[in-house]
Amino acid sequence: MRINADIVAELKQAGENASDVLRVALTRLRGRIALVSSFGAESAVMLALAAEIDPAVPVLFLETGQHFPETLAYRQELARVLGLSDVRDLHPAKKQVENRDPEGQLWAFDPDACCMLRKVEPLDEAIIPFDAWITGRKRSQAATRQNLPVVEDGGNGKIKINPLITWTPRELDAEMTRRNLPRHPLTLRGYPSIGCAPCTRPVGEGEDPRQGRWAGQSKTECGIHVREIG
Ligand code: SF4
Repeated sequence: MRINADIVAELKQAGENASDVLRVALTRLRGRIALVSSFGAESAVMLALAAEIDPAVPVLFLETGQHFPETLAYRQELARVLGLSDVRDLHPAKKQVENRDPEGQLWAFDPDACCMLRKVEPLDEAIIPFDAWITGRKRSQAATRQNLPVVEDGGNGKIKINPLITWTPRELDAEMTRRNLPRHPLTLRGYPSIGCAPCTRPVGEGEDPRQGRWAGQSKTECGIHVREIG
């Protein structure tokens, strides 16, 4: 492990309080930690909490080339409003896209391969210099996330830190209102969970928010949280 046991113990001592976890993570691991954000419907709270502690924290955004224009605009707006000075757009390798998805339609017949090309591989590459990364995953998001811990093994000596695990959509919404944070424009049009445009649809009342992602398919995760970073 590249992270010593004292830091892990401190993170665990911070319990499930997001600000406390972030303060330990961003101060004790400064220069060795990045935050991965989708700039989606619920991203603003985590980014605001992190910006209060270290607005220069590297923020990694997977610019798949398939996002809604609203997401790209929101990524710019949030970075500006919160004063985040190091948001990095991670693009898939141009040559790989030309070889593996020349028509830009891979999502339609092999979404796992598309996520591998446009999300998993770019993040694998970008995360190499870091020893830890922060995610915005919550237990309330899906049945598959109900046992999510605050600190988990990220593979290859890295750790993944999930400060928001206990937050519910209602709490996030209230915090966004309290802080007067900008909202992703698509949340007003029925998109409670927002990924790439071809793989996201609005959801109806009573539906699991993530049912709008890869709707009609067994796929529930893009792969960046399934595979260990090598
Ligand atoms: S979410 Fe869809 S478009 Fe985006 S990388 Fe995955 S399969 Fe491709």
